[in-house]
Amino acid sequence: MDRYLEYRKDIITCCQWLCQNGFFGTLLSAGGNVSIRVPDEPALVITPSGRPYMDLVPSDICVMGFDLNRIDGHLAPSIETAMHAGIYQTRSDVGAVVHTHQTYASIFALINQPIPALFDEVCLAIGETVDIVPYAFSGTPELVENVKQTVDNGCNCFILKNHGALNLGQSLKDAWKNAELLEKTAQAYYHALSIGNPVSTLPDSTIEKVRQLRAGIGHL
Ligand SMILES: [Zn+2]
Repeated sequence: MDRYLEYRKDIITCCQWLCQNGFFGTLLSAGGNVSIRVPDEPALVITPSGRPYMDLVPSDICVMGFDLNRIDGHLAPSIETAMHAGIYQTRSDVGAVVHTHQTYASIFALINQPIPALFDEVCLAIGETVDIVPYAFSGTPELVENVKQTVDNGCNCFILKNHGALNLGQSLKDAWKNAELLEKTAQAYYHALSIGNPVSTLPDSTIEKVRQLRAGIGHL
């Protein structure tokens, strides 16, 4: 019996939805990567490197230790496995990571501009800002270090400069939903900026309220 089977199946379901909805940038290649933390073990279940998402079967999904040693699986894991492991080691609240190349968030990866607090329901889910992770080449220890330092702010969405987006959540469903919320926000912000009028952000009192709610110390 494969004790990782449900995680593997959930990852494939998520990846194929993200792929078909444009979150990996292309339908045919294998940009982005998705992982789930294995509860009570220093380990993660993660997509393999360079395999088209629509062709994946559960045995293709890798199980890796945070020390990057293989626990189960026959394919090479994503080249960003160390980045995922670094996030789980930095953020004990995170149970899943969805790294995408989603289009509208990628615009802000090019203009190097964080996305401020714009919508209260988005802010509740992902936090008060979408910060930029400084650029480093994919799969390098430098990128892992840049990510670990940026995700420390407690928010759930980030933009990788000149690369794509990082979406975190307590569960895979949360991280997946946050990818969708980020894309909606980035799309709306991009169009609002394009009009040229001043863009209004949430008032400080709302941001403070959201901060308290996210910390579990406030109520609506
Ligand atoms: Zn990527």
